Amino acid sequence: MNLNVTNINTETLETVAADAIKALENSKRMDAKRWQSAIRKGAAELLSNPFWNFDGTELVIMSETSNAIYTPNGVCQCKAYAQNQPCRHRSMHRLLTRYTQTA
Ligand SMILES: [Zn+2]
Repeated sequence: MNLNVTNINTETLETVAADAIKALENSKRMDAKRWQSAIRKGAAELLSNPFWNFDGTELVIMSETSNAIYTPNGVCQCKAYAQNQPCRHRSMHRLLTRYTQTA
């Protein structure tokens, strides 16, 4: 399934994001709150940023505000990832993977 801003279902995405945020509430991970925040930002960006494509495996995101291109497929190219922090790009990849398993 190829997904992009033209065919993603908002309701399904929001359900997937809400489930992921809820699952982290019971998590003992130290970074659970940061991941929850990353998921919120990632879900919002999937609906607002038109420059991304998910081919069912790999996600490519072009930043709306810079020329940066992110391919957050396990690793990421952003500052947060370099500092070992959760990032919204990887949450976007995870959300889309979950989305394709749900839809
Ligand atoms: Zn990132």
